[in-house]
Amino acid sequence: MVILLNSSVLPEHINKLKQELEYYGLSIWPTYCKCQNVIGILGDTSKIDRDYLLSKPYVDKVLSVQEPYKKANRKFHPKNTVISVGSQTIGGNQLAIIAGPCSVESYKQIIDIACQVKASGAGFLRGGAFKPRSSPYSFQGMQQEGLEFLKIAREATGLPIVSEIMSVKQLEKHHKDIDIIQIGARNMQNFDLLKATGQLDKPILLKRGLSATIEELLMSAEYIMAGGNENVILCERGIRTFEPYTRNTLDLSAVLAIKRLSHLPIIVDPSHGSGLWWMVESLAKAAIAVGADGVIIEVHGDPQNAMCDGQQSIKPERFASLMHSLRRIACIESRTIKESTL
Ligand code: PEP
Ligand code: MN
Repeated sequence: MVILLNSSVLPEHINKLKQELEYYGLSIWPTYCKCQNVIGILGDTSKIDRDYLLSKPYVDKVLSVQEPYKKANRKFHPKNTVISVGSQTIGGNQLAIIAGPCSVESYKQIIDIACQVKASGAGFLRGGAFKPRSSPYSFQGMQQEGLEFLKIAREATGLPIVSEIMSVKQLEKHHKDIDIIQIGARNMQNFDLLKATGQLDKPILLKRGLSATIEELLMSAEYIMAGGNENVILCERGIRTFEPYTRNTLDLSAVLAIKRLSHLPIIVDPSHGSGLWWMVESLAKAAIAVGADGVIIEVHGDPQNAMCDGQQSIKPERFASLMHSLRRIACIESRTIKESTL
């Protein structure tokens, strides 16, 4: 970190600042010259509040020369993190294919879809029981009953379940039921929820916020990791831009950026990323080609009558044919997709 000082700075200010920073184990390197006084700070500056430094009248600018996330940073952990869930891994050579409906709608619906996506080669079953909806009048999910159906689907297929938790209260009550806990885009900066998931020993699927930068996503991962839970899977699910044609703008370049900046696995959600079912297959293929560690795809037996996100859900038959394409792309990219055991 570098601090640029203005001409009002006095030697006693610098001495006081030095003492404050040394308290955090940092060393300071002042450089004085007529036009600009500069202080270089060496050490782990993650505990230093930039705004606190900027509040001092003699400080002009505070420049970060290192990323503010440490545990999520590839610099300090060069090897890819590989997360194991049952017989599957996420972040290694094997691709994670997560498929299922946006929401659990009935016992039959989730069991049927679970069997179909499993037969096509999905490694995980997705399904929302607690749904974050823009309108309070829209279907809010089957809640606890939905989770019970998901557990039965897991029993029937052996697929680990991925489901969203929206609050600390829900987390306390239901974390044991879910294999990968999803933190949705709207909750990416729900810091209490992030801290609470940091206390668990369970994979967390952290989706990128609607308007979050890559650094903000990594800082949210850092919250979870700082609590001791290093099993974080990141998810690019599109961001809000000026373009209204698609529901969101899928930022595939974020996959490349995150691979460079972090060792954490990153998967792509082409369903929420586009909001259009006919784009989902092509975007899923592009995601694997660009180096994502997997995809999460909404699949529904009757999209036109889905209770949530039918417009972006593909039918099981299309998912089956997509899996053939994904296997071929995986092969070109020297990745693998586990064969279905059905
Ligand atoms: C979902 O996965 O169904 C969902 C609501 O996702 P997001 O948080 O990315 O909108
Ligand atoms: Mn959805």
